[in-house]
Amino acid sequence: MILILSPDTQPDSPEYNQLLGHLAQLPKIKTRIHQEKGAQLTLTEIYLIGDTASLALENMESLPGVERVVRISEEYRILGRHKDDHRPTHFEYNGVRFGQDNLNVFAGLCAVDTPEHVEMMMKALRDHGQVCTRMGAYKPRTSPYAFQGHGKSCLPWVFELAGKYGIKVIAMEVTHESHVDEIREALKQTGSPTGVMLQIGTRNTQNFELLKIVGRQREFPVLLKRGFGITLDESLNAAEYLASEGNRNVVFGLRGMKTNMGDPHRNLVDFAHVPVVRRLTRMPVCVDPSHSVGTRNRAPDGLLEIFHATLQGVIAGANMILVDFHPAPAKALVDGPQALLMEELPLFLECVRNAREAYEKNVRLMGEAKRS
Ligand code: PEP
Ligand code: MN
Repeated sequence: MILILSPDTQPDSPEYNQLLGHLAQLPKIKTRIHQEKGAQLTLTEIYLIGDTASLALENMESLPGVERVVRISEEYRILGRHKDDHRPTHFEYNGVRFGQDNLNVFAGLCAVDTPEHVEMMMKALRDHGQVCTRMGAYKPRTSPYAFQGHGKSCLPWVFELAGKYGIKVIAMEVTHESHVDEIREALKQTGSPTGVMLQIGTRNTQNFELLKIVGRQREFPVLLKRGFGITLDESLNAAEYLASEGNRNVVFGLRGMKTNMGDPHRNLVDFAHVPVVRRLTRMPVCVDPSHSVGTRNRAPDGLLEIFHATLQGVIAGANMILVDFHPAPAKALVDGPQALLMEELPLFLECVRNAREAYEKNVRLMGEAKRS
């Protein structure tokens, strides 16, 4: 059960203390307090954990300071959608909105290589009105002999270039807790010219200790990718780990499932699950067509299969696209064969806009049909 307090309830107010005193007396109930400090308001939610079935909704609603009460099902307590749950389905980070009602494109390099390539990418993004990108500095690789990413040494110049071209959010994978500290330190050192969304990759979806550490910090939002060999429920529970530790600014990423049933694609594209994740949870949903499809094959209609998969995700209501680009794919140190080319960026963005418009039109049509 969640008690949602009236906005701006102060922790030192008599009302609040009275409420906590009352809750402390409830048998077999533990409380967990979550505060969200916005620009104007501080919102407080109190989670009651334990034998809540015996608590009457009306009684809880009449407690001092309580505005609303949501009875939650067992699943995905914090990030899930529950009956009469009007908690938000969006958050804001560094001036960019991430919500189930909008769409952001994160085109960029799979792995940071040279300053020239990073600059070409960021300049192209700026020239096409984009404020987000992907840049891998820490790369989890199948082979221990493969390039592992430049790590912390590239962070200062990547962040400075991002600032130069107005990039507000960089999705960057972390595979160890020290990476979070290195990112924080490099941002501080460069005067925070940009923001970072920490990415947890598919190989770490169930790295619970990493999830707990990343969940304990609330400075950076998190993109959690679905595990490529586990159920959707298991991956959604992994996202809930982040929230249960305090960070609910989580985007859920679909990136395809590992099975040879998806051949000749690198992974079996799972974008039909976009509406499912939106129905079960309040998280914005990301699709990664590059790591799903994994090739630059072109369909007879002229569209690359990566374009097709992207547009399938967008028409299904995706809220974020993570996609590999590279100015010189032959020279890319990771995933060159699936990278889109700089000259394909405007076309890609236009196709995405068209699919998003079609999606929004379909939603409007459905709404009108329901009302009539
Ligand atoms: C990536 O986005 O660079 C990546 C490695 O993705 P995934 O974890 O989905 O394989
Ligand atoms: Mn990659």
